[in-house]
Amino acid sequence: MNSQHNTRALLRRSDGKASTRQCLPCTACCEGWLRIEVNNEEIYPGNGCSNCEVGKGCRIYEKRPVDPCRSFVCGWREENSPLPDWLMPNNAKVIVLPNKFNWQGNPVDVAVPVGKRIPPRALRWLTEYALKNQRLLVYLEQEITSVELEKKQLVFAYGPSLFRQEIEVKVREGTSLWL
Ligand code: SF4
Ligand code: SF4
Repeated sequence: MNSQHNTRALLRRSDGKASTRQCLPCTACCEGWLRIEVNNEEIYPGNGCSNCEVGKGCRIYEKRPVDPCRSFVCGWREENSPLPDWLMPNNAKVIVLPNKFNWQGNPVDVAVPVGKRIPPRALRWLTEYALKNQRLLVYLEQEITSVELEKKQLVFAYGPSLFRQEIEVKVREGTSLWL
């Protein structure tokens, strides 16, 4: 499925606890790949947080807001994460948001590219993991034809056809997928 979808509410917060894995040199979730609002500043692809030093960290680390900055950890950093080391977001070019919503009792993970699209190796790992563990996957991509990065991204669903159809309808109608 490839309708554009406003993923603005993608990243309000995460309920996950952080593992002992360290973020740096990853700063992917501050760079604009996730659409968030930080101190009334809108962050989106092509417009990263003004406090982010890419690859180095947050300039206001001690004063960063609770929501979303302190409360968020991505799937790779969550305690007991099943994601292997190489899927660190700055390396694998994907940010995984586990259990973003449920469909018919099955957890749906959301994967967001760090760049225009998720590299094939990472996407393959995520789809195989979903299949093996009876999970579902929604992943985003930038418009292929667009030179600029877009706020709205294309949405793809991986799973049974009924799931894919429902996601497609929601995207077409502009209904939020996870709120
Ligand atoms: S994307 Fe994950 S690993 Fe990277 S900075 Fe954010 S929470 Fe840390
Ligand atoms: S304020 Fe700091 S932690 Fe929050 S998004 Fe910006 S750079 Fe990241």
